[in-house]
Amino acid sequence: MKQAKLLALFGLFTGTVANAQSVYQVDLKADGATVEHRGFAAPDANLADGFAATYHLPKTVPGTYATLDYGRFVTDFTAVDAQGNTLKVKKMGNNSWSVKGNAAPVAVRYTVASIMELKVKKDKIFEPASTFHDDQKGSVLNGGGVYGFWTGQERGPVTVDLGTPQGWFAATSLEGEVLGDRTKLVAQSYHELLDNPVLLTKPDTAGFWVANTRVTVAVLDLNGTARAAEFKRELEADMAAVARFLPQLPVDRYTFLTMVGDFRWAGDVLFSGKPSVGGILKVVRALSQQGFGALEHNTSSVYYLGDFGSGERMPADLRVEEQLLGAAVHEFMHIITPLGLHAPAIHDFDYANPSMSQHLWLYEGVTEYFAQLIRYQGGRLTEKEYLDAMRGKLIQGEKFPNRKFSFTEMSRNVLDKPYKDAYLNVYDRGAVMAWLIDAQIRGAHDGQRTLIDVIMALHAQYGPDRPFDEAGFFDAFCEVAETPGLRAFFAQHVEGREPLPYADALKLVGLEYRAQGSEVKALNPLEAGKNDLKVKASNLGLTRIVQKVGPNEWAGLKAGDEVAMKDLVAARDSAVDGMMKLPVTRGGTQVILDVPVKTETVTRPHQLSVVDQQRWNAFTTRP
Ligand SMILES: [Zn+2]
Repeated sequence: MKQAKLLALFGLFTGTVANAQSVYQVDLKADGATVEHRGFAAPDANLADGFAATYHLPKTVPGTYATLDYGRFVTDFTAVDAQGNTLKVKKMGNNSWSVKGNAAPVAVRYTVASIMELKVKKDKIFEPASTFHDDQKGSVLNGGGVYGFWTGQERGPVTVDLGTPQGWFAATSLEGEVLGDRTKLVAQSYHELLDNPVLLTKPDTAGFWVANTRVTVAVLDLNGTARAAEFKRELEADMAAVARFLPQLPVDRYTFLTMVGDFRWAGDVLFSGKPSVGGILKVVRALSQQGFGALEHNTSSVYYLGDFGSGERMPADLRVEEQLLGAAVHEFMHIITPLGLHAPAIHDFDYANPSMSQHLWLYEGVTEYFAQLIRYQGGRLTEKEYLDAMRGKLIQGEKFPNRKFSFTEMSRNVLDKPYKDAYLNVYDRGAVMAWLIDAQIRGAHDGQRTLIDVIMALHAQYGPDRPFDEAGFFDAFCEVAETPGLRAFFAQHVEGREPLPYADALKLVGLEYRAQGSEVKALNPLEAGKNDLKVKASNLGLTRIVQKVGPNEWAGLKAGDEVAMKDLVAARDSAVDGMMKLPVTRGGTQVILDVPVKTETVTRPHQLSVVDQQRWNAFTTRP
């Protein structure tokens, strides 16, 4: 039974394994892996005497928008010719090796590190693009950190011959087969190989269908907790929302590859008991080194999540499932863009000397915008949660330095300073730009045409195999969108440096935007200045201890009282007739205070409110 389930994960099988000309033999070690790559090397030039060729590991990979220099983590690099003679090797820069000899190289051998386990100070590799190899626990094979290529040889078919410890299996969207203790995986090119990471571990998997797409979830949890069944339950609801949003899912299989790091010790320090200053510093140091998150591929995505235990004071968003859901729809939607709609720089990715496309507003902005909208339309976010999320993006997006450079300028130069420091704004300002574009398209078509319709029309026109023209894409987009003023919007606010016109665009979906609004807010009875008392924060700010009360104290608190902030929020949210029931720890026991909810009117930047219910309803439901 286990075997049947295991084979089903690979989908279709192929018989082309034996004939491929480029074969990587990969075997795990305790803290790395050995790689032998047999394959054809093209000479660097026509040499009169002997042979010279250059072997590379990627400088970067698609989707990361950062310099990674995977060649830094390769050691023991050797090359041999057909007679088994060792050839002369010289490392060139971070990522390349010059190989010279009397005859052509037929194989190179090298060792790759378990990069996630190294302490890397400069240009640390984002975990979802990184590698982990442990012959006892499992392996995350992100191709950039494992497979190299000879200059100009990124196009031909490749095979991976992967050593597979007994009882383990390789989860991936690549086609392949299991032969004893080896797994053979086949890709049509080096590009396809790098686009298909592999999770090699003891099986913890689950699968389900969404419309016509077979979805597989595979987990490598470093402390051994089985999670696939729970991940499946959570993902099924999000994927159903995706299936309602898209006219059809453009892939027949999709694999969520998840690695869960063990940070229960950090959770213990932070969320149970009383943390020491030393403990907190240790946690901060450790977590600042971690890149939790995800990276997209055409038919899979890789997640690096943290297990912070189950301390009762842990914020809900830190649950492992919440971390996964925070990224899953976004990563899945990348199958539309950039993976199915992109510039030549992404299509024919240059791993040695990458050039960046100016259209990050599309690749990341539109994707993140859709992820939020899908979860809202699918009932996974409430109206308030959705508007709060978009307002948060508006506030963050205003920090983009658009007086210094435009969004397209940032995108083209994102590997370099100062542009790379603004990269994270693709998820905020980029998503807001997509919102304003969607609103304008809807406004021009009386709600009958929307951004996803335009994107899907372009996807049909271009698709994964035909890149669009980098410089002409704004025109191509506007031609399909048929929306007056949209080309000028791109020129002024995406290519140009002008501030975004929130109010004009958002009224087209029924929202009123005000740069400065006011809000009625409940007073915090534990805030000095709002109440006549002195308090001390404890437990990293999660609780307050009352130090002293004055004559005008109005909530009934006494010196020594301890209040958990989450109890205060819960009590306020369930207040009845202006009174809340506030749990307080007083002298070691819990008492419930009846506290009046007092309010004040405060100003709030970037206010969004629904003013035209009909337009808003049209926006929130897919026509
Ligand atoms: Zn993304």
